[in-house]
Amino acid sequence: MRPTFARLATAVAAALVACGGDGATKPRIDPVDTTATQALVSASISAPAVVNPTQATWPNATIPVTVGYSPSTLSNVQISCTVDGIPVTLCSGVTASIGKHVIKAAVTASGVTKVDSVEVVVAAPLIIGQIAMADGSSCPTGTMVFAGENKEDATQVHNDCTFSLPTKFALGDTVVFRAIDPSARMKDFFGRVPKRYFSSFNIVGIPAVWTIKGDLYGGAKITVDLEAAYAPPAGSGEVSGFYTRGRQVGKPWKYTVGSYPRAIPTLACTTALGTMSADDSASFWSFAAVIQQIVGRVVFAASSSQTACTGPIGSIELKIAGGTHAGGSFGAISGRDFSYGSVNARTGDDFHNGGTVRHEIGHVLSFGHTNSWASVMWSSSTFSLEDVAYIQLMDAVAAAERTLNTRLSLPQAHQGERVKKFGASAEEPVDVYEPVAP
Ligand SMILES: [Zn+2]
Repeated sequence: MRPTFARLATAVAAALVACGGDGATKPRIDPVDTTATQALVSASISAPAVVNPTQATWPNATIPVTVGYSPSTLSNVQISCTVDGIPVTLCSGVTASIGKHVIKAAVTASGVTKVDSVEVVVAAPLIIGQIAMADGSSCPTGTMVFAGENKEDATQVHNDCTFSLPTKFALGDTVVFRAIDPSARMKDFFGRVPKRYFSSFNIVGIPAVWTIKGDLYGGAKITVDLEAAYAPPAGSGEVSGFYTRGRQVGKPWKYTVGSYPRAIPTLACTTALGTMSADDSASFWSFAAVIQQIVGRVVFAASSSQTACTGPIGSIELKIAGGTHAGGSFGAISGRDFSYGSVNARTGDDFHNGGTVRHEIGHVLSFGHTNSWASVMWSSSTFSLEDVAYIQLMDAVAAAERTLNTRLSLPQAHQGERVKKFGASAEEPVDVYEPVAP
């Protein structure tokens, strides 16, 4: 830090007068010289070490400069400044481009001149990001990342899966981003991203084709069609599609990164209508095991804590609830991605109906109804090829989002898909969902 002086305001005002910065229309009145016997001892200049451009000044920045001198009571003081040796009109607000600059001030009083200088860096704001594929395949190097409504800025994903974008758009509150993989292995990304994401702009790459893992349909390839996945059954009057986290076509899943539990406590709850028998329980778990086989990890964890039945947070309740239909639900509250689920059987018999249990578990896993293909979520009693592929995709996307700490993934890939299918002009980038803090 450079020394400051007690009467900087006076000194700056003097600088403005000396440089004519107060406009030429006012009459100029020199202060009365009451300190003629004093001599100039020193001059000082101060400015921030690093200054960022603003959107208005890009690619330049306005550097706030303060010039002082001692003794500060001197009058008839002349102050002039240079930036990299070039004289400037005003010392107080110097404009300079991206890079390092030397700003020099010369203070003259009664024939004595003192100089001081300061170094200022005008920084280029960087957006730094990383892309990881949800299916664990190698990242799409060579993918172009664009910023701005009209792709004004562009960069390429490097071999280490990162990219950096020095851009004026990092200065705005939100900016439109696109990521386009020329090889089309990754689905395009089209989103509008708030400024606070810019420092870690990580994207989960959604593969264009999902290869099923595991024993059930293992090795089969399904083209990932998010428009179909999000579409509710025709004529059903439902707004939620296969991925109910989205609720509406093109809208982001609503959950907080990292809050999806690894294994969800699952509990048989006693109701006035009865409780699951040991047989009911064994049957439920045999069907639940298929889901775990599909996903390739433990999804349900048997729980004995009755609190899951009374105030379920992060748990699934199984119960005999009567009524005319079996039901399954998925709930996300307080900004979590998963808060509770329930499988409501009419009677214990429902736990012995594979189609019913699979369907309701599908709801618990956040899937809605679809008939875009033969699906356990509408027309079939068993998991189809597509069901398995999308369940695996959903789980892999959630895991990748946790790893990268990002929620830039499926919704933006859905919108990228729509742009490709229907044309960019009709489409809006998808905003990032901002969860409420739990
Ligand atoms: Zn249903």
